[in-house]
Amino acid sequence: DTLLDIQNLGVSVGDDHHKILSGVDLKINKGEIHVLMGPNGTGKSTLVSTIMGDPRYEITSGRILFEGKDITDEKTDVRARLGIFLSFQSPEEIPGVTVENFLRTAKGAIDGRPPKIFKFEKELKAQMEALGIDPSYAERYLNVGFSGGEKKKAEILQLLMLQPKLALLDETDSGLDVDAVKTVSKGIQNYHNKTNSVLIITHSAKILEGLDIDYVHILEKGKIVKTGGSELASEIIERGFENMEKRSDEYE
Ligand code: ADP
Ligand code: MG
Ligand code: MG
Repeated sequence: DTLLDIQNLGVSVGDDHHKILSGVDLKINKGEIHVLMGPNGTGKSTLVSTIMGDPRYEITSGRILFEGKDITDEKTDVRARLGIFLSFQSPEEIPGVTVENFLRTAKGAIDGRPPKIFKFEKELKAQMEALGIDPSYAERYLNVGFSGGEKKKAEILQLLMLQPKLALLDETDSGLDVDAVKTVSKGIQNYHNKTNSVLIITHSAKILEGLDIDYVHILEKGKIVKTGGSELASEIIERGFENMEKRSDEYE
């Protein structure tokens, strides 16, 4: 059952229409976890931003289907309501808005109506407890004075409370200590089920431990050059992209 189907996607950016992605094909079925890896500057963030509908990225070829519907020209808010979620790499500080209020507003925006307060609070409490997050965290102002790990917790709680169909996680683990990475990884496990899908961009193995990875894709110079199983992630982390064994296209 296909959730996301990217066909021959080409993307350029900036006033000079700098070409970043060309001919990217990627299919993600419901219930799958995919990992996207690649050297810095190859277009990983560009790909997930384009899936989310970030207007800075110009689609020059191909199309994006979500549950069979062509969303190539849809706005970000439409995509969010359809069930696509992108973790933001550096969330902003929002003084005066608590974590709980932020999550409630986000859920209301997705569902088209505000959530029932009592039910929402109960669920948030349960999710926080499952991740070992102190209850006082929900009352703090979003990202104000937050450590890197505390910021990521807000993202993971968003994922758990919004229950999107597709979670795009762009280096959600970067710069975190071991315990924070564990919390993030646990959160992804708690979120993931047979009906939703995850695409994780990462450079490290820690976040992948405990996750049942279906596919690993290597993006280089704007193209997916190799796809494999979880062993491919281990290989890359150990040996780097330079020493990666044959590209998929070399087998063809
Ligand atoms: P990655 O996430 O793999 O490190 P990015 O997708 O962030 O790579 O960037 C790919 C390339 O596109 C880089 O050369 C980057 O400088 C460029 N790029 C990305 N976003 C923009 C933008 N909004 N404006 C101009 N150039 C951009
Ligand atoms: Mg699975
Ligand atoms: Mg990036």
